[in-house]
Amino acid sequence: MHHTDSLWASTANQLKIRPSLEGEIETTVTIIGAGFTGLATAYYLRKAGISCVVLEKNMVGWGASGRNAGMVLTGYKNGIQKIEKRWGREVAKVFLEQSSLGIKKVREIVEKEGIDCSLNHCGSMKAAFKSKHLETLKKEQEFMWQAYQYELQLINPEQLSIELKSDFYQGGLVDPRSHSFHPLNYALGLADAVEDQDGKIYEQTEVASINKKRNKYIVQTDMGVVKSTHIVFATNGYTKNLNKKLTLSVMPMGSHIVVTEPLGKEVTEKLIPNNRMISDTKNFLYYFRRTPDERILFGGRVSFNEKQDSSLYKSLRENLLDVFPELYDRKIEFQWGGKVAFPLDFFPHVGTIKDTIHYALGYCGHGASTSTLFGEYVAKNIVHPNREKSKLEELPLKTIPFHNQRKLLLNIAGSYYSIMDKVN
Ligand SMILES: Cc1cc2nc3c(=O)[nH]c(=O)nc-3n(C[C@H](O)[C@H](O)[C@H](O)COP(=O)(O)OP(=O)(O)OC[C@H]3O[C@@H](n4cnc5c(N)ncnc54)[C@H](O)[C@@H]3O)c2cc1C
Repeated sequence: MHHTDSLWASTANQLKIRPSLEGEIETTVTIIGAGFTGLATAYYLRKAGISCVVLEKNMVGWGASGRNAGMVLTGYKNGIQKIEKRWGREVAKVFLEQSSLGIKKVREIVEKEGIDCSLNHCGSMKAAFKSKHLETLKKEQEFMWQAYQYELQLINPEQLSIELKSDFYQGGLVDPRSHSFHPLNYALGLADAVEDQDGKIYEQTEVASINKKRNKYIVQTDMGVVKSTHIVFATNGYTKNLNKKLTLSVMPMGSHIVVTEPLGKEVTEKLIPNNRMISDTKNFLYYFRRTPDERILFGGRVSFNEKQDSSLYKSLRENLLDVFPELYDRKIEFQWGGKVAFPLDFFPHVGTIKDTIHYALGYCGHGASTSTLFGEYVAKNIVHPNREKSKLEELPLKTIPFHNQRKLLLNIAGSYYSIMDKVN
């Protein structure tokens, strides 16, 4: 399948068509999925001199990596306070450092490989949906400073227009470390960097089955076979059937985006003056930003099934107008969706099953930078299997029991609709 008609696909640097795999080949590592995770794994494996191939069912960046909002953010779905409560300050400190490290890795690759993906050190803001939420953000700011000397900037309601011209919010919390990029151009640049180091990428190549004969995996695709010693699952929200454990450990969810027509810098600068990447404090959040060509990109509207009917995008446009009513007569030019993946504990996971099956997934819609970092960790797990690992790399990936899956889903949907009731 080719790229969606997203803004990113229509403004991509160069959409190369890569060959499908035909016939039989042999390599050390087979990587399934050519998103940030799979491509970063291949990038770091080639740096270490390990042979690998990436097999992609569709095209490079076709999954969430080429469809996301391009917010390269600090932090995790779970806040640092929660992490500290569970594992103590020292562990939480390492989590915090790793979240900044993810951004640093993206920067390093972009600079070293000369990737033209509009990477911008713009900062991000969590916008408070209610006054009560602003109180929580204030506590978060104080805690992050006292415990970690991690500076965040609280935006009170009367200062909000410095960051965001919207009556929908009650203030916010700015983290100046976050970045933004053109996600598909980053994925395409990463793929070129893999190929520049003789890594092989096959598109329109779906892995249909994996079997093991003696100590080699036999990876069967539509028209070819790869024999390898290691397998890497880099399929995140598109993980299906190939590995039971992984399939049952993440819950895929749809997230959706609408993008306005070009508005011009004069308009977008009034709405989001400092060009921050913005997400809000609602359980089922809205996220929005200015694009490099000065439109407003607005995301949200989770879905739990494959259906993407027009009413979903219609309500997303209404959500956009809740935040920016002045855009009522502006056209929506792009709309698309993609899949994110949630594990039971809402943490991203990287690890190894039976020594030679590796994975990194479950980013909870927060994987733009972590996936590059985790690609490096997967490569390290293959090259140095006995290396010392941090807590983040050792979190057990648990199967989500069916009844829990439904409960989780209903809980999230329940809080979502109760919030929406109050909004409407
Ligand atoms: C709408 C949306 C907005 C988002 N916004 C943000 C954001 O602003 N910031 C942020 O940090 N995160 C965001 N995310 C999440 C982020 O995009 C993901 O965490 C990240 O891209 C995951 O990358 P990945 O490489 O692990 O998976 P993906 O990019 O999803 O790649 C998985 C690939 O595996 C392939 N595949 C699956 N099965 C097979 C098979 N059998 N054979 C071959 N190939 C296969 C798929 O075709 C797909 O290309 C967003 C996600 C979505 C959907």
